[in-house]
Amino acid sequence: MAAKDVCPAIGIDLGTTYSCVGIWQHGHVEIIANDQGNRTTPSYVAFTNNGRFIGDAAKNQVSTNPTNTVFDAKRLIGRRFSDPSVRSDMKLWPFKVRGVRDKPVIVVNYNNMEKKFAAEEISSMILFKMREIAEAYIGSTVKDVVITVPAYFNDFQRQATKDAGLIAGMNVIRIINEPTAAAIAYGLNKKGTIVRGKNVLIFDLGGGTFDVSLLKIDEGIFEVKATAGDTHLGGEDFDNRMVTYFIQEFKRKHGKDISNNPKTLRRLRTSCERAKRTLSSTTETIIEIDSLFEGIDFHSKITRAKFEELNMDLFTKCMEPVEKCLRDAKMDKTIVHDVVLVGGSTRIPKVQQLLEDFFNGKELCKSINPDEAVAYGAAVQAAIMSGEGNIEKVQDLLLLDVTPLSLGIRNYTGVMDVFIPRNTAIPAKKEGFYTTSYSGQTYMTISVYEGERPTPRDNTLLGTFKLSGIRPALRGVPDISICFEIDNNGILVVSAEEKLTGNKSKIIITTNYRNRLSKEEIERMVKEAEKYKLEDNEYKKKMEAKTALENYAYDQRRRIYNHSNIEPEVMKKIADEVGKVIHWLENDNQPWTLEEIENKMKKLQNVCNPIFGEDVSGS
Ligand code: ADP
Ligand code: MG
Repeated sequence: MAAKDVCPAIGIDLGTTYSCVGIWQHGHVEIIANDQGNRTTPSYVAFTNNGRFIGDAAKNQVSTNPTNTVFDAKRLIGRRFSDPSVRSDMKLWPFKVRGVRDKPVIVVNYNNMEKKFAAEEISSMILFKMREIAEAYIGSTVKDVVITVPAYFNDFQRQATKDAGLIAGMNVIRIINEPTAAAIAYGLNKKGTIVRGKNVLIFDLGGGTFDVSLLKIDEGIFEVKATAGDTHLGGEDFDNRMVTYFIQEFKRKHGKDISNNPKTLRRLRTSCERAKRTLSSTTETIIEIDSLFEGIDFHSKITRAKFEELNMDLFTKCMEPVEKCLRDAKMDKTIVHDVVLVGGSTRIPKVQQLLEDFFNGKELCKSINPDEAVAYGAAVQAAIMSGEGNIEKVQDLLLLDVTPLSLGIRNYTGVMDVFIPRNTAIPAKKEGFYTTSYSGQTYMTISVYEGERPTPRDNTLLGTFKLSGIRPALRGVPDISICFEIDNNGILVVSAEEKLTGNKSKIIITTNYRNRLSKEEIERMVKEAEKYKLEDNEYKKKMEAKTALENYAYDQRRRIYNHSNIEPEVMKKIADEVGKVIHWLENDNQPWTLEEIENKMKKLQNVCNPIFGEDVSGS
């Protein structure tokens, strides 16, 4: 018991716009609030000349530092630079992305230097922050973690997410699908009355993405039957509609166009997001922003009805992927057992109502906060894997891992032959028999793919290898066996053998991933992550020292006025010294070092303490 308490496992929902962390404690899941008291943390990292900020602090300064504030790393992770989705997303980002050997790297200015980061590194910083939030709460170190990813993530994206965990200094005990985590949170895998499996629809409307998944849960195995959605639809679009509405109102009321001022827009957008959240629980709310533009205060109100009107087309659009998902899974909506709400934007009453109507008034699963359900499930999975007892809700079958996507080869007619279908429990092994496609053929090139499409080029090429030395013979004579084998760690080995000659060749997929970080790169990033952490701490120390010096200086200034019995000469000397220090501190652009601050402090103390004494508190 005690040993387990020392190093508990956590669950992290690493979201595109917000992340969330949970832990199993005292028989239930605790979703952990960050240092700002928020239970979800913006997936933002900001680089400045005064250090690095992660989460709320990063998001709060985005308008003043747009090119060095990185978000949406999840849209890049495990993708190639040439990926069409990367090319189009890039156009919308204020930060720079470049391609290095077809791997996207994010370029920022950090501590007056150009720095390049892989998406894995940015994600690792967010994971690191989530880990810190958990550690602050439980008061001990955390190593083991379960991280969630979208159901449609391919193996590259999953591996890259795992690497991000590694760089954050954690041991990723499992990557699970976000919809699966949400279903686990609701205990929908309970062995119940339904004998032949349960159909669960997960409706996940987040900050910038919308995912619908249909799961079939049977004996603890979660099978993703179909996924659909919209990669650019979510809460931020609803915020934007409100922003546009208030820009117009500002123009009407004050005759001024604020749409070209980024700082004004950011402040308006922040208020709109807050108002939107409030409107999920009240029917009317106010917007109050002091000195929004050219000194004009902006005060206004908005009703829930107005908000719904502004977004109605977007809300209705959310029902299309639901239909598509059911269609793809060849399932009628009447045989869906549970509909689960996930993602912060499903708190919007209208969205809930539309979905409820679609399912003919069916009650939706929404008792767990939708923006926390994924982290909740991840925390349950983490607890099970680290051997916590008494989790009745979930069966140990959850320990089964499955392949997320189908694996196979391109056959000579140009079609994908699937060896291991998706959702196969691992470890798994499958053999297939092939022969030559022309007479006298002495070698065969085997291309290994992952994906669900019949044409390999629509899937992901995992690697290629060659079996040579085939004994020349008539077409169709040689017997060649190809074997797929995945071990417990998800490592895939594909081998080929000519039976007659015993000639063999194989490929181990994980090490050959072209786009994956190498072991050396990960090691370097881990070291750098430690360096950044030290720098963060140094910055914190520096800021603490600066505050202490500031407080001390102002205290002395106050004392000068309170001590009327001090000689005018001495008083002037002290006042001068204090004035100098305050002036020095007020110069914002000065890159002080900790040492400089401490020296200033010593110097000032040497002048003041002999006169006033050391005790500051009593003055
Ligand atoms: P992600 O998409 O990154 O997984 P979330 O699921 O946490 O993130 O969703 C974040 C979105 O949810 C944000 O746009 C946020 O404004 C929105 N949101 C959070 N709470 C509410 C609420 N009470 N009402 C409406 N929208 C909300
Ligand atoms: Mg999410």
